[in-house]
Amino acid sequence: MTATYDVIVVGGGPVGAACARELAMAGRQVLVLERGGETGQAWQAAAGMLAPQIEAGEDDPLLELGLAGRELYTPLGEALRETTGTDIGLWRDGIAWVAADEAEAAELRSRCAWQRQHGHLSDWLDADEVRARWPWLGPAAGALWAAREGALDPGKLVSALRADAERLGATLIRDTITSIDQRGDRVVGAVGRDGRYSAGEVILAAGAWSGAVEGVPRPLAVAPVRGQMAAFPWPDGAARAIVYGHGSYMLARNDEAITGSTMEYAGFHPETTPAGLARIFAGVTALCPTLTTAAVKRTWAGLRPVSADGLPIIGAEPRLAGLWYATGHGRNGILLAGITGLVVRQLLAGESTVEDIDAFSPARFWSW
Ligand SMILES: Cc1cc2nc3c(=O)[nH]c(=O)nc-3n(C[C@H](O)[C@H](O)[C@H](O)COP(=O)(O)OP(=O)(O)OC[C@H]3O[C@@H](n4cnc5c(N)ncnc54)[C@H](O)[C@@H]3O)c2cc1C
Repeated sequence: MTATYDVIVVGGGPVGAACARELAMAGRQVLVLERGGETGQAWQAAAGMLAPQIEAGEDDPLLELGLAGRELYTPLGEALRETTGTDIGLWRDGIAWVAADEAEAAELRSRCAWQRQHGHLSDWLDADEVRARWPWLGPAAGALWAAREGALDPGKLVSALRADAERLGATLIRDTITSIDQRGDRVVGAVGRDGRYSAGEVILAAGAWSGAVEGVPRPLAVAPVRGQMAAFPWPDGAARAIVYGHGSYMLARNDEAITGSTMEYAGFHPETTPAGLARIFAGVTALCPTLTTAAVKRTWAGLRPVSADGLPIIGAEPRLAGLWYATGHGRNGILLAGITGLVVRQLLAGESTVEDIDAFSPARFWSW
């Protein structure tokens, strides 16, 4: 007889694994179905920055969710270290966004002003202060300094979330899900290449591949958006830092400078290209001229799950009872994974959510 679970989570990336952990913690019998392998999963490519103040605009619904997501990683990181022994590499020493010229400086000053008005920690550093703090950067017209931003290691986050979900009783099976299984107007499970799995609720968290799973009532508005990346040795003598600028970024991880990235609608092709890498190299060498003579250590690419309006899709499918979406996290799915897990657990329990998630409702794309 096949086992029946309370909840199936399709996809064991950061979002799926965070949902599974929260639901297992709430006492649900959870099955995570994860395809595995290396085929462009976003989390395997991600830089892992926690940067809502850099990424989101003033009226962007992502800002509040992102700030909550960023703060959640302090207790979540501690909890995961205690229960799994894994250090997720959380680092909250701030992010600088360097202005290339006076026009960008004016934009960043105004960003700094509204952030301060909303009570977020944000400072403007003039050109001399930038030179004094990061003498290895190229010429700058100043920088926005967001002292509470940071980063974590996405691979370690995913292993810790999966391990903790399993410790709490979740089952993880390696299979590629091809379809949602339904009877009448309800979900009854999911069908994979290797088997059929039953559960009363299914959460679709398959990243850029979420739209490829059949049996959903309406096409899911998620597309793969490729991001290319490159690693250099971290510049000798430079203190570790995270810096945005010239349309690119660099962050210190171990002894490397992780640099990126591109945003390309290029289908399901997680490869690097000469043109994409050239764009990254132009940006990061303007940001940090010493990289001009450094040897590139590695290059790679991954596929972000991007929705039609760039916002995540979190919540119930109105036309199929028991089907939930947790996908479309685009450029910020590492930042938002932890808080999405928490919100999904609250939604499934019929509770009100810690953050207002109306803007992320699955119903927003369809009027039919
Ligand atoms: C180059 C790059 C840089 C990035 N940098 C950052 C950053 O600095 N900060 C940040 O917050 N975000 C960043 N992101 C975005 C972030 O990585 C994604 O938003 C996040 O990984 C989305 O999580 P996910 O679990 O929805 O999808 P994924 O990470 O893609 O995980 C989906 C999982 O589902 C599995 N899966 C897929 N299809 C199936 C199926 N049919 N059956 C079973 N399993 C399946 C996959 O194997 C995968 O493990 C970056 C992304 C890229 C590509």
